[in-house]
Amino acid sequence: MTKNIKVFVPYCLFFLLSFSQASAQRRGATRTKATNTTNVKIDSAKWRVENYIVNRDSAFANPYYALQKLVGGNKRFQQSRSIYPRQDPALIERLSKGQSPFATIIGCSDSRVSSEILFDQGFGDLFIARTAGQVMAEATYATIEYAYLELGTKLVVVLGHSSCGAVSAAIKRPENPPGHIVTLINAIKPAALEIKNMPGDSLDNAVRRNVINQVKLLRGLESVLSRAYSNGDLLIVGAVYNLSSGKMEVLKETLEDLPKTRYNTADITGKY
Ligand SMILES: [Zn+2]
Repeated sequence: MTKNIKVFVPYCLFFLLSFSQASAQRRGATRTKATNTTNVKIDSAKWRVENYIVNRDSAFANPYYALQKLVGGNKRFQQSRSIYPRQDPALIERLSKGQSPFATIIGCSDSRVSSEILFDQGFGDLFIARTAGQVMAEATYATIEYAYLELGTKLVVVLGHSSCGAVSAAIKRPENPPGHIVTLINAIKPAALEIKNMPGDSLDNAVRRNVINQVKLLRGLESVLSRAYSNGDLLIVGAVYNLSSGKMEVLKETLEDLPKTRYNTADITGKY
């Protein structure tokens, strides 16, 4: 019996090692490297700095840290150094008992703008609403309010992107668009008109203006969001994601003249 176990255990280990190596190869070289690095060096301060790691609890408690965490994750993604955090079965099981996402993302439905991937975040991190052109309606407002009031999420990011088809349609304003598409066009039209005489690329300008307008709308939305924003408890900012470079740019126009806040904001937003 003992002899059988002695033979059996090394055999199992060999099998498991072979299996995990084969799985790792299937996942691809970049991911394997990142996963191994994560396992080995997750506690190293140097590794954390090099990989723009922001503590998750700090990000949940302070929206400025939350923004820094998104910017850092996007840097890893852009540099092909994603660490694919928080995707293991044990965490998924734990999350079934509750969630505390550290940011709400209002993004475009475009298949090339997946927030968890471009911010290199995992399960339970981001609360997301997506429509074409990130056009919002009553249900979207309620979604953001729910995240803030019930889940305690203190950062809202309105995320536009380059070459957005919905914004492009709002610039061109086709006659008699089919179905409900006119809803999107009407919502983005003010931004398209505002940038008409601006120098530069009209689509890029309209994408940015649309995000800025949407941020303004949320900041003034009675009663939950306007109060939470003006008393400095909820941070609402805008960003644009570049489809070609993979870079997310936080729009500086939405970081100016922010209300007084109780959070520590020193050396946070511009760090990465
Ligand atoms: Zn889009």
